[in-house]
Amino acid sequence: MNEAATVLQIEDLAKHFPAARGRLVRAVDGVTLAVKRGETVGLVGESGCGKSTLGRLACRLEEPTRGRVVFDGVDITGLEARELRPVRPRMQMIFQDPFSSLNPHKTVEQIVGLPLRIGGARDRSAVRDRVAELLRVVGLDPGQAHRFPHQFSGGQRQRIGIARALACEPELVIADEPVASLDVSIQAQILEIFRGLQEQFRLTALFISHDISVVSHVSQRIAVMYLGKIVELGPAQAVIQEPLHPYTRALVAAVPRIERERKGATTHLSGDVPSPMAVPPGCRFHTRCYLDQRPECRSEEPELRELRPLHLAACHLGVGE
Ligand code: SF4
Repeated sequence: MNEAATVLQIEDLAKHFPAARGRLVRAVDGVTLAVKRGETVGLVGESGCGKSTLGRLACRLEEPTRGRVVFDGVDITGLEARELRPVRPRMQMIFQDPFSSLNPHKTVEQIVGLPLRIGGARDRSAVRDRVAELLRVVGLDPGQAHRFPHQFSGGQRQRIGIARALACEPELVIADEPVASLDVSIQAQILEIFRGLQEQFRLTALFISHDISVVSHVSQRIAVMYLGKIVELGPAQAVIQEPLHPYTRALVAAVPRIERERKGATTHLSGDVPSPMAVPPGCRFHTRCYLDQRPECRSEEPELRELRPLHLAACHLGVGE
């Protein structure tokens, strides 16, 4: 991959949290992933698979246990807080809960304008004009900029969160379940706004969701995470239409709209995700895998390997078994 085109490079990233009796929660357990300029990579997996922790590690809101994060060619893993300060405005997060992520005591103009003022903008009318422009971009009336977050609906609050994230024209946006707390009809509106922004600003984004249908709307590539690791990575259409890993096939099968259009047999997941404190040996998916397993499934961890052009999966069986 051309390094110049890569905005975010995550290499063998891991985050292990200490738990009771000396045990470890292996929330993220060795992830390598790149996001190219102008690309949105969807990161999908069930609740607890480590995708939100990975998002926080990627923008240094968490310290990794091992591995490194390279942002726009600079290794930011070991940077001190002072060195990280100029990097922060260039990588922005959009959070799941738009209400708790917005200061209830500040007006929308103050909230959206804050990153601009932190970035050094002193001209009040220029900040006001920029805030009005950003509100228009996300489909809000700039005349409401004097209002407080509680005076808006959930969908409108998420639009405010998006406007705030875009204020400093970041090179990378990490959207962590941005539509999970919204009604389905509002989800569609926010996803449509996100698609418009992708075209207008050529956004580079990591879009995190538990819903493969949601990420399929906005992503050029999709990474599927299971118990702290990526088990499939490829072009969005290939991952949705011809998933290679049995876990991805089951996620796709759970979405009726996609499943109707997809080639291949229908499959359903059974059982719960094992605890990240007791990751199964061998293939970490083997306790739920419905394929005819090989002996090595229980003893050797499968590598993420290219089974089709640009389409990788971590399974001992390979393609089409
Ligand atoms: Fe299933 Fe084995 Fe493939 Fe894991 S490696 S997904 S257990 S077939």
